[in-house]
Amino acid sequence: MSNIEGEEHTQKAFGWAARDSSGILSPFHFTRRANRDDDITMKILYCGICHADLISTKDRFGLGLYPVVPGHEIVGEVTQVGPKVKKFKVGDKVGVGCLVGSCRACENCQQELEPYCPKAESTYTMFEHGTGEKNYGGYSDILVVNEHFSVHFPENMPLDAGAPLLCAGITVYSPMKYYGLDESGQHLGVVGLGGLGHVAVKFAKAFGMKVTVISTSPSKEEEAIERLGADSFLVSKDSDQMKAAMSTMDGIIDTASAPHSIGPLIDLLKPHGKLVMVGALGKAVELPVFPLLMGRKLVGGSSIGGIKETQEMIDFAGKHNIVADIEVISMDYVNTAIERLEKGDIRYRFVIDVANTLNV
Ligand code: NAP
Ligand code: ZN
Repeated sequence: MSNIEGEEHTQKAFGWAARDSSGILSPFHFTRRANRDDDITMKILYCGICHADLISTKDRFGLGLYPVVPGHEIVGEVTQVGPKVKKFKVGDKVGVGCLVGSCRACENCQQELEPYCPKAESTYTMFEHGTGEKNYGGYSDILVVNEHFSVHFPENMPLDAGAPLLCAGITVYSPMKYYGLDESGQHLGVVGLGGLGHVAVKFAKAFGMKVTVISTSPSKEEEAIERLGADSFLVSKDSDQMKAAMSTMDGIIDTASAPHSIGPLIDLLKPHGKLVMVGALGKAVELPVFPLLMGRKLVGGSSIGGIKETQEMIDFAGKHNIVADIEVISMDYVNTAIERLEKGDIRYRFVIDVANTLNV
């Protein structure tokens, strides 16, 4: 139901949606709102598959918001601009991440920290402010979005491999900046070498940091060092290796997607070190307090990043040739891809070739 007077969802759209907690996606027809004065409409070209898509399609947090059209690593081309749009013109390459709305007035919005706005509106599984219509994500042919929540894609960046930066990239870049873990010469630990973790390694190397990957998968050691440029690799289950690395790190970005013990990670930090949790863990983890006090250490969290910072991140990535390592897939492979993601069988991000493989 529309409560913006006269506004209707008039743009026909088509995508793939999950209908229940089996998470199985299948073709889905729906509508998007007509392009408002400050909106752009984009033809979606590529969309990355984030671990959050798996959580939502399989309803791991029990929200029950079906149907779910996931996808918040969206790259496309502008096909329509409203009369008040300033940043974009038709034909521009554009990126949209996890957010499509916020109040634009609160303290957080004024500081361009939209993820922390109490009215922050996710790209999917939430409801559009004003109209109350369901938001549908990027596993679909078109998207209508307020221009504020879109970023320009750098000219030199491949659209497919750049797409994951819109969530995975900003989610690790933002805490590195905010917590001061971006200085040349610092030692950063990265927990979990998946979609987020592997781009964290690349940003940290571009900042001139020493990087240690902390992983549950010994098989990832060679590629972490040879291909991604990490300086060292710790197997988190190997207590001897973990002990030998105690008190060596200035900070840790923890991207692991499942609950795990954080005590051994706190022990890896130097005094004043910071452990930043970005993995969306469905369960509480135990916090050993004594090691925090003794080393004046900090455990924090972070959620994606503001739109201005997302533009800054992607421009930085363009300048330093940072993109994700991807496997491009067709839309009809998406269910297999999500099963493989759950098993950790991806190096390191699936990206759907939407424009060429989404057939009505
Ligand atoms: P991903 O590609 O599946 O990678 C997650 C990695 O976590 C895996 O590759 C694995 O790395 C590690 N892992 C898996 N199971 C584990 C376990 N039981 N114990 C310890 N480590 C384990 O996922 P992603 O897309 O990078 O997302 C990572 C997490 O961040 C997800 O929870 C996602 O929902 C969340 N997320 C948060 C934000 C935010 O704003 N804060 C934004 C996007 C995503 P190893 O094999 O190296 O151990
Ligand atoms: Zn994501």
